[in-house]
Amino acid sequence: MRYIVVTGGVMSGLGKGITAASVGRLLMKRGYRVTSIKIDPYINVDAGLMSPFQHGEVFVLKDGGEVDLDLGNYERFLDVELTRDHNITTGQVYKTVIEKERRGEYLGKTVQIIPHITDEIKMRIRSVARNSGCEICLIEVGGTVGDIEGMPFLEAMRQLRNEEMGNIAFVHVTLAPMTTDGEQKTKPTQHSVKEMRSLGIQPDVVVVRCATPLRDETKSKISHFCDVPVEAVVSCHDVDDVYKVPLMMEEQNLPTYLMKMLRLYPLEESTRWEELVARMDAVKGRVKIAIVGKYTTASQSTAPMEDAYLSIREALKHAGIEAGAWPEISWIDAEELERMAPEKILGDVDGVLVPGGFGERGTEGKMRAIRYAREHGVPYLGICFGMQLAVVEFARNVVGLEGAGSTEFGDLPHPVIAILPEQEGVVDMGATMRLGNYDAELREGSLAHRIYGAISIVERHRHRYEVNPDYVKMIEEKGMIFSGWNKNRMEIAEIPAHPFFFSSQFHPEMRSRPGRPSPPFLAFVEAMKERKAGEKA
Ligand code: GLN
Repeated sequence: MRYIVVTGGVMSGLGKGITAASVGRLLMKRGYRVTSIKIDPYINVDAGLMSPFQHGEVFVLKDGGEVDLDLGNYERFLDVELTRDHNITTGQVYKTVIEKERRGEYLGKTVQIIPHITDEIKMRIRSVARNSGCEICLIEVGGTVGDIEGMPFLEAMRQLRNEEMGNIAFVHVTLAPMTTDGEQKTKPTQHSVKEMRSLGIQPDVVVVRCATPLRDETKSKISHFCDVPVEAVVSCHDVDDVYKVPLMMEEQNLPTYLMKMLRLYPLEESTRWEELVARMDAVKGRVKIAIVGKYTTASQSTAPMEDAYLSIREALKHAGIEAGAWPEISWIDAEELERMAPEKILGDVDGVLVPGGFGERGTEGKMRAIRYAREHGVPYLGICFGMQLAVVEFARNVVGLEGAGSTEFGDLPHPVIAILPEQEGVVDMGATMRLGNYDAELREGSLAHRIYGAISIVERHRHRYEVNPDYVKMIEEKGMIFSGWNKNRMEIAEIPAHPFFFSSQFHPEMRSRPGRPSPPFLAFVEAMKERKAGEKA
């Protein structure tokens, strides 16, 4: 097993995850199997209860693990399906160690960060790496060097280096800010590498984020002060799309350098990623899509809006590359739609998407957007909450069930969305949801069947409420059909008479991959393209 540890300095949000994923992709390209582990030094056991507006989207894995969004990047870049043990948090580590201590497994010893916590960290890493069946394991240590929370993890990495000598490389990601007169400053990088060294870790490679390509003199200065060869200083300057980061690293021979260090030889040479980026650059068309969510105004969030819906943006991109139409997203605040006429806001879009969400606030606005799309033949894609609200909107305005709604908002005369009886009574906050991969059976001849070209599919889930089976017949009689199901759970709602109205209880965006777009997303972009072409004609 070879390990590549990616750490970060200077400040957060420099794109350690993308750096690690890109390195992984480049090694994959040479025929290696690569897996990855994300370490999050927070005390939360997982990301399940964390707000996407503070921390970015909660990504869901096939086994139902609710994890950091970087795991989504790994799945997309490395084309793998990971499991919950690939996201290690302080909360998990301490929980296990404390439980062991209570069971007396430490035989009376004083339980300490070194060695007990660090051993637990290394044990988890090794077991995930071993079980993955891969040759290379990337380990991304979240946070920034110097953070108190990160210390036990960096100490564990230092120990791992000694124990795995020769089979482990350290990549440190930093920032070179630019002065107003265009000078690239290296001092923050120097300090950050110094900080790493004070913890006993000398980075092997320094990846430097910067606005413009690192100049030769900047590279050699960093090489001198940080004690790495100049070819191990890699410029990671701004590019218009993250999929271009692997190409940039390839140009600077980073994979060759790392492979030499780790004594690895290329087994094959694939150009799939390069082809994908070339296809992406060749996309000429544009479609305009409105994503109607809660809090789409930056003022209420500390994470960028795109991060809260990262996988959706990526899935649209995958579909756009395939369909030859680039999706231009406008983030619409649902509450805005409660104040303004929908045609004012949605009049010029080619498609409407309502993503997953929780809680009542903003739902009236979301339903206005859905109604507008339904009545005006605008392509609609509803995801999870976006399906539940489509069903509620239809029940209210087409079936005529006054006061129809979801029990998520309280008691109602017509609970068309509710918790199914078998789930009632579950109280642990982290454990009430239906999470991860589940199959759905599709109705022959439906839009769903055409989109997937299959009768049975697997998709990721993260929800607590469901379509109430008591209302299915009533709704179907009026023209909205449930074309996908898992036993008595409705998985897909569509309107056959509409040009494109598709909504699912699952999250198709989470299994979308570059070069292998999610079928509903592809069909949605195709439908938007068609509508746009029709308007022009
Ligand atoms: N709030 C809804 C539920 O819990 C939808 C969840 C979601 O959109 N992910 O079922």
